[in-house]
Amino acid sequence: MQQIKDQQLIKRASYINGTWLEFNTTDCFEVINPATEQAIGIVSNCSLENAELAINCAHKAFKTWSKLPANERAGLLRKWFELIHFHQDDLARLLTLEQGKPLAEARAEITYGASYIEWFAEEAKRIYGDTIAGPSHDKRLLVLKQPVGVVAAITPWNFPNAMITRKAAAALAAGCTFIVRPATQTPLSALALAELADRAGIPKGVFNVLVGQDAQGIGERLTTHPTIAKFSFTGSTAVGKQLVKQCADSVKKVSMELGGNAPFIVFDDADIDAAVSGAIASKYRNAGQTCVCTNRIFVQQSQLQTFNEKYIRAVSQLTLGNGLNESTTIGPMISQQAVDNSEKLIKQALQQGARLALGGEATEQAGYYLQATVLTHVTNNMQIAQQELFAPISTIIPFTTEDEVIAMANDTEYGLAAYFYARDIGRVWRVSEQLQFGMVGINEGIISNVAAPFGGIKQSGFGREGSKYGLDDYLQLKYLCMSGID
Ligand code: NAP
Repeated sequence: MQQIKDQQLIKRASYINGTWLEFNTTDCFEVINPATEQAIGIVSNCSLENAELAINCAHKAFKTWSKLPANERAGLLRKWFELIHFHQDDLARLLTLEQGKPLAEARAEITYGASYIEWFAEEAKRIYGDTIAGPSHDKRLLVLKQPVGVVAAITPWNFPNAMITRKAAAALAAGCTFIVRPATQTPLSALALAELADRAGIPKGVFNVLVGQDAQGIGERLTTHPTIAKFSFTGSTAVGKQLVKQCADSVKKVSMELGGNAPFIVFDDADIDAAVSGAIASKYRNAGQTCVCTNRIFVQQSQLQTFNEKYIRAVSQLTLGNGLNESTTIGPMISQQAVDNSEKLIKQALQQGARLALGGEATEQAGYYLQATVLTHVTNNMQIAQQELFAPISTIIPFTTEDEVIAMANDTEYGLAAYFYARDIGRVWRVSEQLQFGMVGINEGIISNVAAPFGGIKQSGFGREGSKYGLDDYLQLKYLCMSGID
């Protein structure tokens, strides 16, 4: 932590109403570096009363923030974006320390996360209403777009910066105020964002961070409190389902960015070298712990041997290690439990007939490391293919026909991201249209960027983040009917 140049970015308690809570020595927890299993800091738990305070303050702040002219909100967001850019090295290092991803990926996340703040600073000025032709000569119909109110969010550990900015930037741009509860494993990146929001001059109560291990208790407050108008969640489908139910009683506007089980299909007309690099980028980023990670690689029989050889060779060249070493290309997993679960899944798949082509084991050193693993001879009905892996494990499944692979790809409750490599233009259209996923990469393994609508279908959730559609989740329509014009 001494390597963080601006030590003021390291905070130890929640940020509510423009004020840092006092560090509480009797109710606190350690933040663990998954690369070393050593504590890198201690943060204190907020109480449920603190959560209540944040909600009340965000409600009060909404009255003024929502009335601020859009260009003034945009100016403050722009300042926040600039400060994040200025401190990107520190923020990236902090992120690697608490989450484990390689430094190059952490830097990319900071740039990616900040891009949402820049984008929505601009979009804030482009919230247009409508006029509609009336049903009679004395009537005029109008549609206003207004901010929904106080927004609460719960975010995961795998993108400790970007999963917050992707929501907060859109909410603040729309005129909403915002409360986030980050994941217990990665509170420091969230608190550093709050410090920079504070320096940017974002008014008190507009952006609040609640740090606390009581996920259920705080989650219950944020999903049931009548003052909160909108709830946004990124995390697992199981928890998401529970939170949707909790939001039902107060009928909140809800968006859910949940789990995935992405197919990556290599057709016989694919550029195999491009498919290999696309699959590696999509599979092994963040040690396989991204929601849009490739989960199942389907390869057409005629290209199976060539693909396997090239892919296994390329995976064997990845370097596992502490993300702070510039040569590392795969960091640790988030916890020992994640490593243990992955090893169990690998064992089970091997018993069911899969073959181990590479890796397969945890390493001896301190830290939560699993070797980059490749399994061949996998079938789509094995548990390892049916569940979201969230691990650096590739499963290769052979197929024969286009119809067969589309059926297998869609045979999952998830519908977040899918990828395929093909050159035939007819096939490109057919497959794109039939894949039941919210996002499809065609000859591309990395699909997320600020201009694109990010989100899933089926049990991967609803709502879209980023793009020109991203503000919609934070706005409500109000229809005005004006009469008596004659
Ligand atoms: P998770 O267990 O669902 O946790 C996500 C967040 O929810 C964490 O902050 C967690 O807090 C909190 N939480 C857990 N149980 C809760 C409860 N009962 N009430 C309220 N909050 C609760 O998911 P994860 O394992 O951290 O993250 C990985 C999952 O996120 C994967 O399924 C991945 O696909 C998904 N994800 C989706 C997207 C997307 O955009 N679609 C992006 C990234 C990740 P604690 O940290 O304290 O447990």
